Amino acid sequence: MRHEAKHKSVSETYREGLCNGKLRYQHCINCSTANFPPRKCCSACQSSELEWKDSSGQGVIHSITTVHRAPSPKFKKKAPYDLAIVELDEGFRIMVNVTPPMLGKIGSRIGMTFQEQADLSILPEAKLTAII
Ligand SMILES: [Zn+2]
Repeated sequence: MRHEAKHKSVSETYREGLCNGKLRYQHCINCSTANFPPRKCCSACQSSELEWKDSSGQGVIHSITTVHRAPSPKFKKKAPYDLAIVELDEGFRIMVNVTPPMLGKIGSRIGMTFQEQADLSILPEAKLTAII
């Protein structure tokens, strides 16, 4: 099994998690840093001893902006929408859309949900759980 896992791309385990409603990140066995996005070596100590863990999906908004002018026709129907950097309780950050739009603030608690896209891929999305 370990041999098989070594041949997966670094993001494959992450994508499999999304399909199963889980936000996965890599935990460094050497220094305990939570690493995201997926990588081959720890961002803090460069160790390759990384293990996958499932995030609780709970966190806070670190920064947020409302996009009024979509960057491409693909996003035009969604505008205005909120784009945020969210810090998960495990200590890593991810950039995601936040719903409902226009209500999130820095420090607002969120929970991750998983939304199927038009191309059938699944992306994580933050849903406000409390408004500060
Ligand atoms: Zn490390």
